[in-house]
Amino acid sequence: MSKSLQAIRGMNDILPEQTPAWRYLERTVAELLDGYGYSEIRLPILEFTELFARGIGEGTDVVDKEMYTFLDRNEESLTLRPEGTAGCVRAVLEHGLSGGGQVQKLWYTGPMFRYEKPQKGRYRQFHQIGVEAFNLAGPDVDAELIVLTWRLWQRLGLADSVTLQLNSLGSSEARAAYRDALVAYLQERFAQLDEDSQRRLTTNPLRILDSKNAQTQALLVGAPTLADYLDEESRLHFEGVKARLDAVGIRYEINHKLVRGLDYYNRSVFEWVTDKLGAQGTVCAGGRYDGLVTQLGGKPTPGVGFAMGVERLILLLEALQLLPEELNAPADLYLCAFGEAAELAGLALAERLRDAIPGLRLLVNSGGGSFKSQFKKADKSGARFALILGEDELAARVVGCKPLRDDAQQQNIGWDALPAHLAACLQA
Ligand code: ATP
Ligand code: MG
Repeated sequence: MSKSLQAIRGMNDILPEQTPAWRYLERTVAELLDGYGYSEIRLPILEFTELFARGIGEGTDVVDKEMYTFLDRNEESLTLRPEGTAGCVRAVLEHGLSGGGQVQKLWYTGPMFRYEKPQKGRYRQFHQIGVEAFNLAGPDVDAELIVLTWRLWQRLGLADSVTLQLNSLGSSEARAAYRDALVAYLQERFAQLDEDSQRRLTTNPLRILDSKNAQTQALLVGAPTLADYLDEESRLHFEGVKARLDAVGIRYEINHKLVRGLDYYNRSVFEWVTDKLGAQGTVCAGGRYDGLVTQLGGKPTPGVGFAMGVERLILLLEALQLLPEELNAPADLYLCAFGEAAELAGLALAERLRDAIPGLRLLVNSGGGSFKSQFKKADKSGARFALILGEDELAARVVGCKPLRDDAQQQNIGWDALPAHLAACLQA
């Protein structure tokens, strides 16, 4: 026997029992974003490697360690997208969507790929819903993005389970000045840093701030803080964001160590975090990236965005039992037909019922079977009523209508009266 095939580690099948939750989340997000005037954009999963090397930046974990990169048959280096922002900016530039200062408010969803150590809430193929806004420089749009995520948590019932962390990274000059000060401080304490942080000191020193190593964290207590390096314009911008969150009544925590893993952020950065998922607690993260568009070859274009982790949100909804019960609602009707003639008449009748009752969920028995076996399947399906069509019913042009969830009697209903009768029964 040949060896059975398996999915790649960290790449999950989403099974039929799970898809209702996914569809619920996707539907809720799509409706919400529609309500705020954001348009969906659909982007390729594969891009040239250079896009991510330039967009996300060498020296980041994602680019250095996590990308799925390969040469295609034409010897071009391609990468399975590890995130959506770079590809979205590429598409915006390629199609001139941000030309002439045009405002664009966009969102996308789909799988992302990172070679990480798989564990709960961290996979190698995972899904994000991302939102990006271009050509808006003010704090109003940073706040709008946070407000709409906050509304999403309310719609999903998660408002009490997530908290907002906020920081400003300042201008890229301020950030660079701060980086120098941090490097100087840590250089003097190099030997006490953990190995990862020693490496990051030259590649991506700000990332050391969110090191999980306790000794490194202790060293950081006396380190210069980003807040002291904030330029005046960024400080005012940050005040503008906070004022808007205050106006709506959204609570936040200022976290000076929040720097985000990707290189392209400036000014506002934020994360929504939960303590209910263990170590993988960030469900949504984003910020402003005013330098990214030029980094990818476009004219200076302000940008701001975020991405949510779909798997983590679904884990959270499941853990808190917040998935609406009707997601698993069974069918309304199960049609049993006995013999070829009854099957033909039953099929035609089923299609008439679908015409007459919008949204009807009607299972037509497949594969024939005895009265007993079809009835068993009808019961197991969870349907509220079985419709029964045998030789006698066919001759009399009626259908047996049997309630499956209570002791009410079976009734024979004429074919013409059936749609109205069933519509009324299903309303009840
Ligand atoms: P982390 O610190 O957890 O690795 P990150 O900073 O690398 O996160 P982002 O690139 O900001 O993550 O991605 C946005 C969101 O996508 C995260 O907040 C998280 O919810 C989700 N996410 C990121 N990586 C994964 C993954 N490997 N598996 C599942 N979800 C992920
Ligand atoms: Mg990561």
